[in-house]
Amino acid sequence: EGIVMALKQARSQKAYEKALSLMPGGVNSPVRAFRAVGGTPFFADHGEGPYLYDIDGNRYIDYLMSWGPLIWGHAHPEIVRAVTEAAARGMSFGVPTEWETRMAELVISLVPSIEVVRMVNSGTEATMSALRLARAYTGRPVIVKFEGCYHGHADSLLVKAGSGVATFGLPDSPGVPEATAKTTLTAPYNDLAAVESLFAAHGERIAAVIVEPVAGNMGCVLPEPGFLAGLRALTERYGALLIFDEVMTGFRVALGGAQARFSVRPDLTTLGKVIGAGMPVGAYGGRREIMSLIAPDGPVYQAGTLSGNPLAMAAGWTSLSMLAAAGDALYERMERYGQALVDAFVALGRRKGIPTFGVAVGGMFGLFFHEGPVTDYAAAKACDTRMYARFFHAMLEEGVALAPSQLEAGFLSAVHTEAELAETVAALERAFARL
Ligand code: PMP
Repeated sequence: EGIVMALKQARSQKAYEKALSLMPGGVNSPVRAFRAVGGTPFFADHGEGPYLYDIDGNRYIDYLMSWGPLIWGHAHPEIVRAVTEAAARGMSFGVPTEWETRMAELVISLVPSIEVVRMVNSGTEATMSALRLARAYTGRPVIVKFEGCYHGHADSLLVKAGSGVATFGLPDSPGVPEATAKTTLTAPYNDLAAVESLFAAHGERIAAVIVEPVAGNMGCVLPEPGFLAGLRALTERYGALLIFDEVMTGFRVALGGAQARFSVRPDLTTLGKVIGAGMPVGAYGGRREIMSLIAPDGPVYQAGTLSGNPLAMAAGWTSLSMLAAAGDALYERMERYGQALVDAFVALGRRKGIPTFGVAVGGMFGLFFHEGPVTDYAAAKACDTRMYARFFHAMLEEGVALAPSQLEAGFLSAVHTEAELAETVAALERAFARL
């Protein structure tokens, strides 16, 4: 259909060609390569508040926000100052620092179900460690996850449902041992009955159910009323743990995460993204009784040379303190802006006869080329991904950066204002005119 690229791209094009010969796909994380939408990924030069500037000098209103962490926008002066001051005192020590205690205290005070917390360096490490802990605590091998939920790239989590009657999953990636994949059961998101039958058949072997309490890795999909509470009741009944993977939702859908917003208390919580404000941070935590199994208090081993890194803690603590001070009003405002974007998107689609659907929750939103509602992975996969690709490029040309795939969420920040919102709605109108 001939996308006319109005963007200056010469430098990004050259940078990408060079990167392609040196790194798989030219990138250090797959979606950055724009494979789902085509075209050349733009290379970041710098960011400022809600704006991202590429190396060709194009400016974008950013709704990617580094895939979620940047709830205070790019290069927030207070966060930059905290990191710079920490760096000047030493980048890493390998002995405890008071930053770690300060950070633990703040995370525990903000996330309702966390009594004790351990810092790690990524979301993947957090979920991988939480699974090990759940298996150790229950003495059971099997994990239940949901189709379309992403929990990082640990072996047992790279699994989706096999087709047909199979309940035990198949590896989603070569290199995942079949024996590992077999310990992961999957169910459709929002399908409590499916989880109930997994427990009826395998209950005494299930260590934990892990769920994104708002799914953000198949677009943005809300839990239906009763879904999370139903998982809480089922896991309790069968003596399994409930793990909320709040790597994306933590400090983003509400100050206390999805567990605060939907009033359901998991046994374990994993965190990432916002907790580090752009620095590499993850965390897992929960009930003291369970967390006491972690080394050196208990026998479950998990460690990290750079875990609790002072730069990362300084960034995270500063960002979380600012969120705590901003309170619920900030999350209400981000959700109002997200809803305004969704409303404009859906109305424009309707006017053009293009099926559209969207959701906004706190600082997260989803835009789907689908008549909706999108409640699970099957629906998400049925979206018009080619239309999304055209829309994505049209928006880039209008100076708005969205996720380079239909199956990802969008992210707002505390520094997006009415001005950016109005500019984005105008960009939506011009983009739809070209679809
Ligand atoms: N869990 C969820 C819900 C995520 O969204 C992600 C990353 N998008 C991860 C885990 C993995 O985190 P990381 O990329 O930091 O390893």
